[in-house]
Order: sequence, then C-alpha cells, then structure tokens
Amino acid sequence: MTLPASARPGTEPGTTKVLVVEDDPGVAAQLVRALTRGGYAVDQVSTGAAALSHGHPDVVLLDLGLPDTDGVQVCRQLRQRSQAAIIVVTAFGEESDRVSALDAGADDYLVKPFGLNELLARIRAVLRRIRPDGDVIRHGPLTVDLRTRKVLVDGAEVALTPKEFDILECLAADPGRVQSRTDILEAAWDANWYGPTKVLDVHMTSLRRKLGVAGLIETVYGHGFRLAETLAE
Ligand code: CA
Repeated sequence: MTLPASARPGTEPGTTKVLVVEDDPGVAAQLVRALTRGGYAVDQVSTGAAALSHGHPDVVLLDLGLPDTDGVQVCRQLRQRSQAAIIVVTAFGEESDRVSALDAGADDYLVKPFGLNELLARIRAVLRRIRPDGDVIRHGPLTVDLRTRKVLVDGAEVALTPKEFDILECLAADPGRVQSRTDILEAAWDANWYGPTKVLDVHMTSLRRKLGVAGLIETVYGHGFRLAETLAE
C-alpha cells in the first residue's frame, strides 16, 4: 500500500516556517538546531531590520534585546505587516518589555533561560490558536495528536507510555527523514542523555509491537530510525 502524503493541515512538517530573530550566535544556533529537529523550516536573522524584510514566516521567535532597533517596535511593525504568530523572548526581569510586546501584538512570550521543550510547546500552542487542527499528524494508518498525546492506528486508539509517545512524536515530525539515535534520545529523554542507548531499543521494540504495523518504523543501520514514507503491499 502507498501512504498518502503526510497530512497535517496547514502545518505539514518541514513546511511550517519559523524565523528566529536572535543576535547571540550561540543561543541562535541552539534554537535553530532544536527547531529543525522539531520538524520546522528555520531561518535566522540577527537584527530587527532583517526580521522586518524577511519573507513570510508562520512563527517569529523575537528576542527583544536586538542590536539595531527596539524589539517592541519590531514586534509592532511585524504585527502590522504579517499574520505570523509572534513569540517574544526577554531576559529575566524585563516585565515592562513583555507587557509592551503583548500590547504591540505578540502572541506569547518566553523568559530566558527557557527549556527547549517549553519552546516547542509554546510554538505548538500559538500554531493551535491560528490553526486549530495543526497539532494532528496523519500518516498512512497512523494519527498522532500532539495536544492530547493520543495515538490511533486505523482509527483505534493505541495506549503508549510517555517515552514511547515522545519517540513516535520525534519520528512523526518528519516522516521519511532519518532521526539519529542521539536526536531521539535527546527528544525523549531531554537535552543531556549520557546513559546507555540500549534503553532506546527496548522502548522502540515495545512501540513497534504496540503500533502493530509492519515496516512502519524503519531501522536505518548506522544512522537511526525513520517513519516509512510508503509501506510495502
Ligand atoms: Ca539579544
């Protein structure tokens, strides 16, 4: 059987564009990496001027402390010219900036330092508000609801453990793309996993058995795992 193109109305993995506006190269690189791994198409700029002249992102992650312009001003101008969801990022203690940014049209805010899982959750939340069905990934017989964390196979609910769900979420974010063992471990066990990677195999075996669809999760030897783009007859 051939799987239809992965359907995630309005938010197909890899096609939701996130613009990171951040002038600190280290922070920017970390954000770009996390968002790319989360299945988003990511661009990054370092100034307010570049943010305002940049294409048509779906989500803008806007650091308010920019070298060239007032971040709140950038937020206001973005809101005037774009439908993008805007999440502003501020340093601890800049409460007045956050209030100004929300008044200027920001959809949400994050206070540094924040966890990457929190960032991804906030992005899903703003996308959900602008695209109510955007949190459901459909791929062949599989339906993954990221908000309720429910998984269906051919319409029947499959009960997964939290770890199994996290692994599946990582794979389903971009069907066909190989996720390395490290990427999956970092996604399911959070940023710094130094334990044995054998634990991943145990959960993967259990996940495959519960899903019960032969060939759905492919092992790519020496690389990692991926969700099959198409299934054999
Ligand atoms: Ca900054």
